[in-house]
Amino acid sequence: MKRLLSDVYLHLIAGVIALGILGISAHTLWMDRQNLWQEAEKSSRNVLTTIARDLDGKIELLDTSLKGAMAGLRHPDFQRLPPDLQYRMLFDRAASASFMGTLLLVDREGNLIADAGPIIAPRSLNVADREYFIVHRENSHLGLHVSRPFTSRTARGELAVGISRRVSDENGAFAGVVMGSIPLNTINQHFNNLSLGKQGAINLFRSDGVLLTRYPFLESQVNQDLGSSQHVQRLMRVKSGTFDSISPIDGVRRIISFERLDKYPLILTVALSVDEIFAAWQRKALVLSLATLILCCAVVGLTILFQRELRRRTRAETKLRRIARTDDLTGLPNRRAFRETFEREWRQAIRSGAPLSLLYIDADFFKNFNDRYGHGRGDEVLGAIAGSLEASIRRPRDVAARHGGEEFAIVLPETDLPGALTIAENIRRTIASMDIVHEGSPYLTVTVSIGVAAARPTRGSERSVLLEAADRALYRAKASGRNSVCGPGSESAPMQPPLPHAAA
Ligand code: GH3
Ligand code: MG
Ligand code: MG
Repeated sequence: MKRLLSDVYLHLIAGVIALGILGISAHTLWMDRQNLWQEAEKSSRNVLTTIARDLDGKIELLDTSLKGAMAGLRHPDFQRLPPDLQYRMLFDRAASASFMGTLLLVDREGNLIADAGPIIAPRSLNVADREYFIVHRENSHLGLHVSRPFTSRTARGELAVGISRRVSDENGAFAGVVMGSIPLNTINQHFNNLSLGKQGAINLFRSDGVLLTRYPFLESQVNQDLGSSQHVQRLMRVKSGTFDSISPIDGVRRIISFERLDKYPLILTVALSVDEIFAAWQRKALVLSLATLILCCAVVGLTILFQRELRRRTRAETKLRRIARTDDLTGLPNRRAFRETFEREWRQAIRSGAPLSLLYIDADFFKNFNDRYGHGRGDEVLGAIAGSLEASIRRPRDVAARHGGEEFAIVLPETDLPGALTIAENIRRTIASMDIVHEGSPYLTVTVSIGVAAARPTRGSERSVLLEAADRALYRAKASGRNSVCGPGSESAPMQPPLPHAAA
């Protein structure tokens, strides 16, 4: 029971330590991960803000050029000016938009009136089939329009996005379109300069879900209308936000920040790969998990070792204690153990008020036996006597011990004198009937003499009285001719009369 309890404590302590180690490392990793996630969100938002500002600035500059051209066209003196001044009036403000691909002014049929930009457009250019031309012709109140990406007919066939406004005559009727283009390259170059990792991505959508450009650039994806995809609809619902999702295109999980531009119908997204963000963390987590596992195993292992050692020691101690209390030759409790038992039972008898009996047993003529049959044989006979004593006591608290030499003692708790005498007589008879030849004894067989004493111990009584009474009774048993049992002042008859000269 005690051992069981200490085992439970040991397991409890080991469990608490192991759980503690696990808890601490799990908590550390979790906090690290949370921090990383927040950092990633922040940096994706920072990138987003940078791009949005840049784009905002570019479009604003371009729009200023468009408005400048329209103002010039409407000026009352415009028609009267010479061509070079007309040109300057139209495109004065366009010079500052260095990223611009081209700036076109077309009439109501879509024919080129004038153009500006690094590349001269062909004189015969007609854009009546272009989306940006058609939408302005059909809608008078569109304001600024962002076109789908198109392949430029002027500038080396580059992909570009057009920013356009409608030109109306004095009656408000459609008079043409002014359009400035931004080559996708100039936007993409800016994207390329941002460090987003290998799996990072930037998307620029028109607010109806048409993909204008993206990083990494893939021409096949540009100009796709993704307005019906769930992913893009999520971007279209609110102005800005951050979420994480698994890409349906490449299966990569990303943290995505998105924002709709304030002034222009554009949506920007910046996505960072979760795997890349957590790559270093994952390595750390692996190492820490392994270390934690090893530590926990060590705790469990040490506990098991400790437990084994504890058990081994307990066993060894128990064994030592038993050895210290046991007689080598007979296996009976020795004199010391007898003393302890007697003390214990004496105190118990005081408490319970029950009688306590004591037997002293001594082998008769044993010196003779040794002399005749040798010490070894004598030892064997002592063993046989011990076995017989053990067999004669029945109750669990009865104890037979080797008191020393060829002397034995038996403590009989809760046994009165008549009971003790009966047991003693029984023992005497049993040993005599073992018929161990002993020609040095007048009985011709090994016999014992037994002194019996009994007491009803009380708080004031001396225990030595009982010991001495048993001793005296034994002396009387010897004196009466041996092979006999004597109580206090009583005598039992020997099995047969002693033969005084049988040894001779
Ligand atoms: P009695 O008791 O009948 O008066 O005679 P005894 O010869 O038995 O008594 P005594 O006390 O004179 O001698 C005791 C003998 O017991 C002495 C010794 O030879 C023998 N003896 C004591 N211890 C041992 C033992 O451990 N082994 C053997 N073989 N003999 C022992
Ligand atoms: Mg003796
Ligand atoms: Mg003797």
